[in-house]
Amino acid sequence: MQRLQDRVAVITGGGSGIGLATAHRFAQEGAKVVVADLDEEAGAKAAGEVGGLFVQADVANEDDVARMYRTAFEEFGSVDVAFNNAGISPPDDDSILETGIDAWRRVQEVNLTSVYLCCKHVIPYMQRQGKGSIINTASFVAVMGSATSQISYTASKGGVLAMSRELGVQFAREGIRVNALCPGPVDTPLLRELFAKDPERAQRRLVHVPIGRFARAEEIAAAVAFLASDDASFITASEFLVDGGISGA
Ligand code: NAD
Repeated sequence: MQRLQDRVAVITGGGSGIGLATAHRFAQEGAKVVVADLDEEAGAKAAGEVGGLFVQADVANEDDVARMYRTAFEEFGSVDVAFNNAGISPPDDDSILETGIDAWRRVQEVNLTSVYLCCKHVIPYMQRQGKGSIINTASFVAVMGSATSQISYTASKGGVLAMSRELGVQFAREGIRVNALCPGPVDTPLLRELFAKDPERAQRRLVHVPIGRFARAEEIAAAVAFLASDDASFITASEFLVDGGISGA
């Protein structure tokens, strides 16, 4: 029996990077996958690859988020796993002296408000089922700060971590587990774009990773599949670090 056999899993940001790798991993483990993404082309392609369903959604928009879970429920009859993963990195210099209020707000909306909206709209389905697993993508920067000065990003991920702990505690007795996934640097389009603008930044970050390289998205997906499955039945309200040792150094 596969670990996620017939579980219905909604993945935001499923069109690229960590979300895409997780869509593949979930499908391999038997899940029915719903890929949600702002990017219609990438999201539809990902859903096609894993035999899943695509829902175009902006995770910062409440109507879109509500529609996303409603569609999953109407199509498959349950929502067992929510991987709230879509996120952006700040467009330009994100030091506190440079970040403008509009850029700050956009990062909070896409990275933090989105997780609030996703949890708010998926928990009622899970309450009715008496079970569910929510995995919210934070980052290692939420527990240790960043060597590369990213104030709006780090603050948003700290919020995701705190919210996940709070919800994990609050809903534990209802069979709903909520964990914050804290990846270290992962080789995805998000990171490549950031480092293309500032190659020195990649070097500065790499020296802090004890394992000596960035993660592959598949290595993060393996951890997400574990958290989604009953193998993690006693894990909730955790900060689940998959960071190559960066936070321990
Ligand atoms: P990515 O850019 O490869 O993928 C992100 C996906 O999210 C894209 O498909 C994009 O279209 C989608 N997206 C962006 N804004 C959206 C919105 N408003 N609504 C719906 N979809 C939207 O990035 P990734 O590296 O796979 O990052 C995934 C998550 O992991 C993010 O939350 C990121 O902050 C986090 N993270 C990444 C790293 C890393 O080093 N790559 C490290 C720690 C945490």
